Amino acid sequence: MEFGLQYRRPDAFDKLDAKSWSPFELAPMDEVRRVQEEKLVAQMAYLKENSDFYRDMLADAGVDFDDIRSIEDLQKVPCTFKTDVRESLAASKPFGRHLAADMRDVVQMQASSGTTGSPSYVALTEADVEMWHEMSARCFFANGIRPGDMVLHGFSLAKGFVGGIPVMQALQYMGAIDVPIGADGGADRLLRACADTRPRCIVGAPNFVLHLAEKAEEILGVKASELGVERVIVGGEPGGGIPAIRDRIEELWGAKCCEMLGGTDLGMAYWAECDEQNGMHMVNMDHIITELLDPETGNIIPFTHGAKGEMIYTAISREASPMLRFRSGDYIEVLATECACGRTGPKIRCIGRTDDMLIVRGANVFPSAIHSIVNDMLPETNGIMRVVADFDGHTTQGALKVIVERGPARAPADDDALKSQIETRLRDALVFKANVTIVAADTFEKPGAAKVALTLRKFPDLS
Ligand SMILES: [Zn+2]
Repeated sequence: MEFGLQYRRPDAFDKLDAKSWSPFELAPMDEVRRVQEEKLVAQMAYLKENSDFYRDMLADAGVDFDDIRSIEDLQKVPCTFKTDVRESLAASKPFGRHLAADMRDVVQMQASSGTTGSPSYVALTEADVEMWHEMSARCFFANGIRPGDMVLHGFSLAKGFVGGIPVMQALQYMGAIDVPIGADGGADRLLRACADTRPRCIVGAPNFVLHLAEKAEEILGVKASELGVERVIVGGEPGGGIPAIRDRIEELWGAKCCEMLGGTDLGMAYWAECDEQNGMHMVNMDHIITELLDPETGNIIPFTHGAKGEMIYTAISREASPMLRFRSGDYIEVLATECACGRTGPKIRCIGRTDDMLIVRGANVFPSAIHSIVNDMLPETNGIMRVVADFDGHTTQGALKVIVERGPARAPADDDALKSQIETRLRDALVFKANVTIVAADTFEKPGAAKVALTLRKFPDLS
């Protein structure tokens, strides 16, 4: 190796039987806090030296970098909103005013999906790239991927998304082998590669891996469960946390399904479910400080069992595109703070995006939560639904219009009964009043490689 380049971590195979990819995932919380605060102080010193963007932000708020020494001190720092990032990017292309490294030290970039406007671009130095590999490897290991595994790549490999190249790099770093077809390669090619290479694991968006399983018999002449896949790892959309979707994935693939969560601004993934399959652990507490914001009171609340709020992230070992108190928009619930696997990071479930949240007569309602209920009602429903938010903003005093596809075996004559059954379930589970319209199965587009928007801004023409 003439230049000392290394793609795989040299000790990857030593970790085959480890309890976690990094011993730090098992560290007691007082040790975690000590490391986090040490790295926070170092990150503040780095930003003071290198970031015009954060120097201006803290000066405007009358806060001194040197005064931020503890996790509680962070609350003095203003939050960085997605709009701040967007304005920064527009003001100084390509990586924004918040770029805090020399352009000559940037070795890689990625793009976000840009669901609200143009994509957001992040820059990575060599140290950032290695940190991303490490964060993702911890997630994949918790999810059940091991060095030596073949892994079918079912996320998009195009478009610059973090589900593409960074996934491939992290798998390589941890000693696994990426089968680089990508969702863009299409179901046909993915399934043929699956039959040819017999991967132990698949990664992809939950609705898409479900779609693949449903196509297996038609394309390959065998059931997905006969392809030898043992682990299906899902992320990028909420389905993995929806029991009905997860059960179908596990049944059709004959495999265990685990979920992970991340976001372009901080990395590929930093939360991941272990074998217990009941919530995603924070497995990267030495790289990210997480705060939980109660959107109603505006207060930071502790990660206690049952706590709900929006995640705020602070990167504490980032060079090129640092983030201080980044408002992620992920609305989560804390499921547990202890686990049989020994990991000490809290376990969460993502309920939805605060951007998607609707307020129906004062109740917070997430379209993904409605989707979850409708999915639980298979085969009475087809599992497919849309919310119609045909009002200004996010707040309505009326009943929320929800369109649900009836199950393929159900007669349209029974629609009235199904309508009231769903309305009751929604009222009991999510405490809001729905006005449900039943439509035929396959009225709406089924989830494929692309994410499907569950919310429509006007009532569709159903004739
Ligand atoms: Zn666990």
